[in-house]
Amino acid sequence: MLEQATKALKDYFGHADFRANQRELIEQVLDDRDVLAVMPTGAGKSLVYQVPAIVSEGLAIVVSPLISLMKDQVNALTQAGVRAAFLNSSISPAEQAEVLEYAASGSCKLLYVAPERLDAPRFLSLCKTTKISLVAVDEAHCVSQWGQDFRPSYLGIAAFIGSLPNRPPVCALTATATPEVQKDIAHALGLIDPFSLVSGFDRPNLYFGVERPDPKAKRACLLRLVRERSGQAGIVYCSTRQAVEDVCDLLCEGGFEATRYHAGLSAAERHANQEDFLFDRKPLMVATNAFGMGIDKSNVSFVIHYNMPSDVESYYQEAGRAGRDGSPADCILIYNKKDVQTCQFLIDKGYEQRQSEGDEERSHTLYERDCERLRQMVFYSTSTDCLRSFILRYFGQTEAPFRCEHCSNCSTDYAVEDVTVEAQKILSCVLRLGQRNRQAGKALIVDILRGSKAEKIFAQGYDSLTTYGIMDEVPSKRIRYVLDALVAEGLLAQTDGSYPVIEATERGAAFLRDRKALEIKVPKRLPKEELPDTGA
Ligand code: ADP
Repeated sequence: MLEQATKALKDYFGHADFRANQRELIEQVLDDRDVLAVMPTGAGKSLVYQVPAIVSEGLAIVVSPLISLMKDQVNALTQAGVRAAFLNSSISPAEQAEVLEYAASGSCKLLYVAPERLDAPRFLSLCKTTKISLVAVDEAHCVSQWGQDFRPSYLGIAAFIGSLPNRPPVCALTATATPEVQKDIAHALGLIDPFSLVSGFDRPNLYFGVERPDPKAKRACLLRLVRERSGQAGIVYCSTRQAVEDVCDLLCEGGFEATRYHAGLSAAERHANQEDFLFDRKPLMVATNAFGMGIDKSNVSFVIHYNMPSDVESYYQEAGRAGRDGSPADCILIYNKKDVQTCQFLIDKGYEQRQSEGDEERSHTLYERDCERLRQMVFYSTSTDCLRSFILRYFGQTEAPFRCEHCSNCSTDYAVEDVTVEAQKILSCVLRLGQRNRQAGKALIVDILRGSKAEKIFAQGYDSLTTYGIMDEVPSKRIRYVLDALVAEGLLAQTDGSYPVIEATERGAAFLRDRKALEIKVPKRLPKEELPDTGA
């Protein structure tokens, strides 16, 4: 059978051979096994069901949600000499009758159907009297309430498959499905012991980086990143129109040739700015996520996110606009905790909106999904592990290596260190301040621990704390790093607001009380003790 399939691949599609994952999947389908394929757009999912449809006896039913795509696919197949047709609301009842007759004649190999048509009586009777070779479900994530774009009509697919007299193999295909969504797809489509394959998400030419500057240094960080890449074409994504305006001004004032794109500009200006970028008249585009859909500029050398998006799906899609031509390109995210609050605010607003529209149950499901996605995005932004591996595993590509050696975490040399004593000192300082009803931000805590001689320290009497100066040998950057790690570990918490202060959590108090130990990953460039001043 596989030989016949390879011949069909050559005869109809003009390709010499299958891609490795296509072959694996096709073998399973020809063996009558259900498959679930998660592969990015362009990876060649269509052939996974088209080729088995051609070489198998009977008619393949392809469920597809987009009417326009259906027509394109059928046209392309027909031109290649494959007998195919489609059934959806864009054609008249007379034409539908013709299509059904053609499908019943036995000469048609593939019938594309919109999910809404699956329970039409004449269609069902066709499927009961004709041998169905396989059922393919395109954009299979639409069946999952956790997926990107759930479509209620997809929930009818399982019943349709169940109604077929001889159950054919089912191919579920999608470009986007986290492991949860994959499970959901298999369940909601009633797949039987499916062969699952997730592959092709890696873009080896992309370097991934995360920068976590102090909020006050964020603009300087962006300028540095852009300066390091001057002369190259790049996109800077911001989350709001206002941020686009500010960042574009910042870059132009910094002497860079930047233009901008967001939904608040007139159509004419958007078009003109886009052309300036596409034709390299302006190498820098500052934009909201409104920019990029359907834009195919191959030589984008970097994508910088000035604000963190609310989920890894969006991040990877936007960052992936770099390096389309396969040349090395950088995807850098500038992380700032404030963006987490903004994302959470938008999720909460979406929830309220849906609640007011009266869809209680679904609004809860989506709320949980969105919060979980945001959590994952924050994990990515704050992780010390391989960033590429994080992304690939997020999309379910479990065979991803644990280190890629081509991201900012792999190239930062970390060492696992026991920071128990430092943690105890920092926590004691915060607790002592609390006992005196004093609150302090990170900078003040570091100053107290290092025994700063600043006037305000003496004026406020901080020098009389027993923790004053107990870390005077430790560089402030390191104290700051451990302090941030304690926040990340949940032993300390930082309040919101314009003057965020640090407080010990219940877990932090228990850590001291129970004499627990703590190991964290510390970049090797952060020594424990102040290096001797070489005068350099
Ligand atoms: P997807 O549905 O995953 O987005 P497509 O099925 O549209 O991807 O295929 C994307 C492109 O890859 C098409 O141009 C197709 O002709 C090409 N392609 C698919 N399989 C092969 C192959 N085995 N050899 C060469 N080109 C292929």
